[in-house]
Amino acid sequence: MAIAEPVASTDLHAAWRARTPRSAELFDRATAVLPGGSTRTTIYAPPYPPYLESGSGIHVRDVDGNDYRDFLGNYTSLILGHAHPAVVAAVEAQVRKGSAFGAPSALEIALAEELVRRIDSVERIRFTNSGTEATMFAIRAARAVTGRSLVGIFERAYHGTHDTVVAGSPGVPAAVGELVMTLPWDDPDGVDRALAGREDEVAAIVIEPIQGAGGVRAASPELLRHLRTFCDRHRAILIFDEVIAFRAAPGGAQSLVGVRPDLTTLGKIIGGGYPLAAFGGSATILDRFDARRPGALTHGGTFNGNPVGAAAGLATLAELTPPVYDDLARRAIRVRDGVATRAAANGVDVRVDLTASLFQVRIGATTAPSAVATGTGAADLFVRLLLAGFYLAPRGMGAIATPATDDDVDELAAAIVVAAAAGA
Ligand code: PMP
Repeated sequence: MAIAEPVASTDLHAAWRARTPRSAELFDRATAVLPGGSTRTTIYAPPYPPYLESGSGIHVRDVDGNDYRDFLGNYTSLILGHAHPAVVAAVEAQVRKGSAFGAPSALEIALAEELVRRIDSVERIRFTNSGTEATMFAIRAARAVTGRSLVGIFERAYHGTHDTVVAGSPGVPAAVGELVMTLPWDDPDGVDRALAGREDEVAAIVIEPIQGAGGVRAASPELLRHLRTFCDRHRAILIFDEVIAFRAAPGGAQSLVGVRPDLTTLGKIIGGGYPLAAFGGSATILDRFDARRPGALTHGGTFNGNPVGAAAGLATLAELTPPVYDDLARRAIRVRDGVATRAAANGVDVRVDLTASLFQVRIGATTAPSAVATGTGAADLFVRLLLAGFYLAPRGMGAIATPATDDDVDELAAAIVVAAAAGA
């Protein structure tokens, strides 16, 4: 493989500006009304991100007409790629009938039934608009049923943006932080030590069975089993946040390890590219939201379970048969192995870690994953990959979507190694 002429880091932004003048203009215009140029902290990357205007399959096009192969798929949610014909047809059919009503719909029942069929631990489900709301309500339910307040959350976890899951951030009262315990990753004894003496205060332990934003790390089965035992022993609620991890298998990541949580949160792919998320679990807990019962927990939401999102989600899940998951995972392995082979042949210090169809680029085998996720090397890698026509998360996370071919993933692997070599 020929390693391309490296673009020096100092020239990188100049090369980017030359390629994307219209995105630059939009960014300047945006910053006057949208702080930082957008409304999602996570999508900013220096000097400015491309403004995308269309997508089809894994291809997306920016406002300057540049084409990228999109291995991010709106942060892993577009498992079928952009504008999948079945999803477009389902959404079109629904929007012609109306976008949302102040009434329940048959489509949300069908989506609930499909999710209950797929996920053993989910007997009942409630829809939300975002993963943030899903984890907020799962934690609220756990606190309500246990009558306790303490929540255990793991290092480098990402569960959205409500107060409990971002305790310690500016604007979140310090008192909220006293109700949250940070737990060490993959260290069952460390979990016990962190919660020692406060076991009877624990309402819930929340964990991503596969950490996404934290660097695509799967929790060990031992840790998950340990948490199950801990929660049983201390009558706490075990919550699996599968907003990202659900794409790992038809029954979610939990089906791969055989650990049954009390509550599960879902998002991303279950809305087929539209804003729809959910929390579900045992009937005993979820039935606390049954409005026919005295003292039911309140859970409103103008767009909860809206028929457009439900139609898109159903159309997406219908495509996701077991062989499709195998194929996605096989292509992720192809990225990892393609990078490993090319990196070894060229002496480049980069690797790809993966779980199922999710992957994380790590520059420097000896570098801590957290450093890679936030370091300048990662930001440069993002721009270098954009210039090579590939779209990943600025922090190096990616996901395979069904339209990605073997050639696409081979070319991605080559581009990752070239980009890492150029930044070395
Ligand atoms: N949980 C996890 C594991 C996530 O990755 C995310 C979003 N990336 C969320 C919750 C929050 O979801 P949303 O962005 O839809 O609020």
